[in-house]
Amino acid sequence: MDVEISSLPEIKTEGLALDIDDTLSRTFRYWAGQMQKLFGNPENLSVDEIVLKYNRAQKVPYWQSKEAKAWRKNHITSNELQMKLPLIPDSKIFIDKISNIVPLVAYITTRPESVIEGTKIWLENNNFPTLPIICRPDGIPHEKGSEWKANILEKLNQQVKGMVDDNPNLLNFLPSDYKGIIFLYENNFVDTKLNAIPCRDWETVYEEVKNAFKNYNK
Ligand SMILES: [Mg+2]
Repeated sequence: MDVEISSLPEIKTEGLALDIDDTLSRTFRYWAGQMQKLFGNPENLSVDEIVLKYNRAQKVPYWQSKEAKAWRKNHITSNELQMKLPLIPDSKIFIDKISNIVPLVAYITTRPESVIEGTKIWLENNNFPTLPIICRPDGIPHEKGSEWKANILEKLNQQVKGMVDDNPNLLNFLPSDYKGIIFLYENNFVDTKLNAIPCRDWETVYEEVKNAFKNYNK
């Protein structure tokens, strides 16, 4: 996959990029609550249990019917749904602290470009900093999201020195000589030769960013 650099926003400072879904917003938790009602909950799990067990809708075996997939597809492209997503309160608290250590430079999300408006409103409503939002072009399928994101990070390696993201699949698509640091939110373990740090919560992300960027010259 090759992303045209001319289609990316100009980022003038070096710093950190942020994922949105399940890093700033409890996206899957919201989805899981809806999908349990619509497409069943044969294991009788609470929303928290299903989130913990499967982590994303694609992995829940009984939500793979045509109808469930179509519902998901519809909602991925809904601006209204993005505005309803619950916030991860710690993300806001620690992002403010992190921005005193290293500049935040962009949001990079596999959400499609068609929901950029709803995304902007959600970020504003929750008082997140105004930064360029890089969304997956509508022509790139959802399944290729991690590959697309890795490609963006590679292209922006002069500006984006680190990324906070919950999805370890991203690491599978970064080149082995990639130098940026991936702070893997809500992960306890990571098996990679890349510069990736598992962080069980936002406080850990903050401590690890502080450690990694302590000699950063503002
Ligand atoms: Mg995510």
